Formats: sequence, structure tokens, C-alpha cells
Amino acid sequence: MKQKQKTKKKQIKKKNMKQKKIKQKSKLKQKPIQKPTLKKEKKQSKITSHLVEEVATELVGEEAVPIIKYIKNKKSTSEFKIASGIREEIHKTRNILYRLFDHSLVSFIRKKDKKKGWYICYWDLEPQRVKYLVGKIKKQKLENLKDRLKKEQSSTFFMCKNACTRVDFEKAIDMEFKCPECGSLMNQIDNKRTIEFLNNQILELEKEIA
Ligand SMILES: [Zn+2]
Repeated sequence: MKQKQKTKKKQIKKKNMKQKKIKQKSKLKQKPIQKPTLKKEKKQSKITSHLVEEVATELVGEEAVPIIKYIKNKKSTSEFKIASGIREEIHKTRNILYRLFDHSLVSFIRKKDKKKGWYICYWDLEPQRVKYLVGKIKKQKLENLKDRLKKEQSSTFFMCKNACTRVDFEKAIDMEFKCPECGSLMNQIDNKRTIEFLNNQILELEKEIA
């Protein structure tokens, strides 16, 4: 175990030294070294592309993922092309696109089709928006966790021996301490571990946001 940690430390040290060296070199030459930068960019764009899908799923739903995948490396894609590309009806496709637009994850321009005479929307992905949205989602999650923690700390909870339902004191009174599922008596439970779990999650999220 100790040996492992030691080698890990060494590796980190090595890494840091390498990075320092690179920094010094680039300062000297005043020109960033090509290779490392390229590698970094590639890695970042990979994460972002996955992140875009994750954020879209969180905000709009899984049905948004095929659209994100379809337009991510294209420019100004017509809504009809998108619909046929993801094998979805045009109305449904438009619906998802506008829901993505509500979060500014996509943008569009409308152009009149010269042949058909009607307007068509051309869509683009706005991946740079993701960073802001990730922060927003995390903040919302943090708020929810804090609310939940408050509830756990300010009430006592009751559960039957079969663990069908978990209710707070008020509800337990309403139910006369009888489980609505199995009819057995509901007893007070210790929620110390739940509180601990919530506290840890809150700490972790706060670290991530900071
Ligand atoms: Zn029960």
C-alpha cells in the first residue's frame, strides 16, 4: 500500500515537473509547443461532446441525444435533414429542437426556400453553453439536497418492518402509524445515515461548484 502511494507521488511529481518544463519552454520560445496543446484540445472536445449529451438528457430528455449527435459536427443543418437523419417525424424533431433552444443549447436561422416558397430552420449546436448549464444543474441539485437535508433534520421518520413506505411524523399520524401497503405498525427509524449521506453529497457538490 505504502509502496503504491510512494510511486504514485513520484509519478505526480514527474508529471508536475514535465508541465513546469513545458511552461518554461513555451515562455522562452514564446510559442506554445504544438503536440501537448493538440492532445489537450482533443481530450477536452471529447469530454465536451459527452457532456453536451448528458446536459441535454438532463434538461430535455434522452430523446434529444440523437439530434445532438446528428448536428454536432455539422453547420446549419436543415430541420428536415435532421428529422430524416434521426428517423423521426418533423413535428417531433422540431419540438425537441425548440426545447433545446429554450436552454440555448442550439441556435437557428430561418431561411426562405426559393423552390418551395416556405421557411426552413437551420440548426446549430451551441456547445459552449454547456459549461454554464452544468453549473446551473449542479446548483439546482445542491438546493434540492439542502432542502432534503433540512427535512431529514427537522422531522422524525417512520417505516414499517417490510420497508414499504417511509413517511415523516405528520404523515405517520395521518396514517395512524399503520402501513398503507401491508398494514403493519410503522416504527420510528434512525435517519442518521441518511443525514450523513446527504451531508457528504452536499460537500462534494459544493467542492465541484467552487
Ligand atoms: Zn408495510
